[in-house]
Amino acid sequence: MNDQLSTVNHFIGGSVVDDEPPSWGHVFDPARGAVAARVAMGGAAAVDRAVKVALDAQAGWRDTPLGARQQVMLQLVRLVEEHRDELAELITGEHGKTLADAQGEIGAGLDVAKFATGIPHLMKGEFSENVSRGFDTYSIRQPLGVVAGITPFNFPVMVPMWMFPIAVACGNAFVLKPSEKDPSAGNLLADLAVRAGLPPGVLNVVHGGAPAVEALLAHPDVAAISFVGSTPIARHVYATAAQHGKRVQALGGAKNHLVVLPDADLDAAADALVSAAYGSAGERCMAISVAVAVGDVGEALRERLVQRIGKLRTADGREQSTDMGPLVTPEHLARVSGYVQAGVDAGADLVVDGRDPHVDGREDGFFLAPTLFDHVRPDMTIYTDEIFGPVLVMLRVDTLDEAIDMINSGDHGNGTSVFTRSGAAARTFQNRIEVGMVGVNVPIPVPVPYYPFGGWKQSLFGESGQYGEDGVRFFTRRKVVTTRWAESTGGVDLRFPAAQR
Ligand code: NAD
Repeated sequence: MNDQLSTVNHFIGGSVVDDEPPSWGHVFDPARGAVAARVAMGGAAAVDRAVKVALDAQAGWRDTPLGARQQVMLQLVRLVEEHRDELAELITGEHGKTLADAQGEIGAGLDVAKFATGIPHLMKGEFSENVSRGFDTYSIRQPLGVVAGITPFNFPVMVPMWMFPIAVACGNAFVLKPSEKDPSAGNLLADLAVRAGLPPGVLNVVHGGAPAVEALLAHPDVAAISFVGSTPIARHVYATAAQHGKRVQALGGAKNHLVVLPDADLDAAADALVSAAYGSAGERCMAISVAVAVGDVGEALRERLVQRIGKLRTADGREQSTDMGPLVTPEHLARVSGYVQAGVDAGADLVVDGRDPHVDGREDGFFLAPTLFDHVRPDMTIYTDEIFGPVLVMLRVDTLDEAIDMINSGDHGNGTSVFTRSGAAARTFQNRIEVGMVGVNVPIPVPVPYYPFGGWKQSLFGESGQYGEDGVRFFTRRKVVTTRWAESTGGVDLRFPAAQR
């Protein structure tokens, strides 16, 4: 490997370590199609070191006053805002999404950090006076200890920020294992957190792939695992972490449908479909990858989609006029292109073929331009599988009921949306649909940070979503205390305690 490459090593105890890891991985610059950095591929030793440091740091951090923790969160928000451009450049350089999109994901991460500044309020317990004569009962929320977050490549800032601001504000220490595909932003976030006043060791970053994940899942001093990634890995993480006695939430993949009813504003629906299907090259868990045309809207919708797709510019995400950047790695480009071919082979109507686009000056980049299929059937792999690329498939059905049944028969239940002018139809949709996050005339129904983010079915294993009160509940455990401060005990009484006495 080229010795001139920049190096991304673990961030443990407040700074980047300089140990030689068992091996190094490649980090690509996907627009240039070249290796840009090397990343430490840690295993059990790095995880153990980070967890030990975290355990030590947590002992003091858990008793840090709420107001002081709030102050750290306020400083974190300020510093992330100050370093927004630098973070966005790291994201675009390693992920490929446009700088504007990278700025958007940082904004969404910041929203969670702002939510975490409310920690003195969020940690409040309950108090009941006189639960029995002279008895009071109250509940308190306490941190879990050392908790870990394992995150996907597609949001290298936002998804870590869904987790660690709330986790540390609750008094935990945190070990982040970011995606090895775009690891740099994780280190900058950890550095900013230390500069914000978080004691060294409270937030650590261990880089690597499956061996680092397995070590976290098995480590006896890791109390909880928060995972976001693809469904097969989410399922594995959920089962394995539970087997090791840990609290676990594991968010998985998606196949999100946008249903267009005959009475919808078709221009608004087409705008929404194109934005939500091709934004970030479709590498979003809330991307819309299926358009469901109900009744006779298919032709008119198709025409509008084609017209809008024709105006999109696929190029290096660093250029201001770019709408859509490259895919993250050559392997992913090959996988997505393979799905396009599978769609053609299965007989779907390839309306816009984005394969092998020419991008001036970036001929080696991992580009695939927006691709549209029509007349797709539910048995085709381009419909059943999460492609995670800029490929939108359109199916046509006769009724809203048929659309709902089709969505409900799928494995995933992350997000979905309906476009209509009918309140009654929208209400039927939101009532019957088996999906965790629902939009009405909204392209990507991502909840604001004071509501939880999480899908249903194979899009979320566990019952706790990310952030919002779910986040606070996930990263704390409740203790219920019963007290009696009376002058006399009332004597020996062998009866079971009863509330009425
Ligand atoms: P991924 O599952 O490949 O990787 C996620 C994390 O798991 C990474 O940190 C990776 O290093 C680790 N990992 C990968 N293979 C592993 C293995 N065999 N054993 C243990 N750990 C392993 O996901 P990705 O490709 O980085 O991200 C894209 C996926 O994430 C898509 O499926 C997308 O829908 C999903 N996603 C879901 C949400 C959500 O909120 N539901 C949000 C973002 C992304």
